[in-house]
Amino acid sequence: TGTGTGTGRQLARGISAFQRNTAPLVRGELARLAREGQQPSQLFLTCADSRLVTSMITSSGPGDLFVVRNVGNLVPPPGEESGDDSVAAAIEYGVDVLRVRSITVCGHSGCGAMQALLASDQDTVETPLHRWLRHGGPSVARMADGSRPTARLAGRAAADAVEQLCLTNVIQQLEHLRAHDSVSRALRAGELELHGMYFHVGEAQAYLLADGGEDEVFDHVGVADLSA
Ligand SMILES: [Zn+2]
Repeated sequence: TGTGTGTGRQLARGISAFQRNTAPLVRGELARLAREGQQPSQLFLTCADSRLVTSMITSSGPGDLFVVRNVGNLVPPPGEESGDDSVAAAIEYGVDVLRVRSITVCGHSGCGAMQALLASDQDTVETPLHRWLRHGGPSVARMADGSRPTARLAGRAAADAVEQLCLTNVIQQLEHLRAHDSVSRALRAGELELHGMYFHVGEAQAYLLADGGEDEVFDHVGVADLSA
């Protein structure tokens, strides 16, 4: 702890650079947000992976995104025995209190959680991580279910099983999301939209689940896609 360690120094240096270079530029906007409170229009739920910089890939700034992050961008279904109140609380707060108009579930390439789910048969040790990853079980089952459409990227099949699960998991977690009371209520009232997103880290490329989503195709977002 403290600033004597290597990472402590790294943290302090980074903060100091923010205070010197960035704080002067955003102080006015942050003062306004402090006065008026946050009014984000989007809830963004993604993985804790360090390579996903939510503000960078969505070009958003302070006050724009209400962000929920966890290992594997999972949304535990409501009322489960091993349910999780953290994600449910964030959803309830985002939808009922902040009245966000959209929720995006964003998965990404090379997700360690998806890799672990595919390898999980050897892993029987009861740890918090293992218990948490159970919420990804329905995604694995969905991928194995031949009667369902196969989630894919526009223009190409998934590169491998991990990418296939990353895409399928986004669709499955959107389904879990719809089961939450506040979400289903807001959807019925026409006050909320759900979006699926996939970020390919190595390509620095985002894909958005096509509206309707029946075919489960994630469309490449091009440089000219400024509509919507
Ligand atoms: Zn991940």
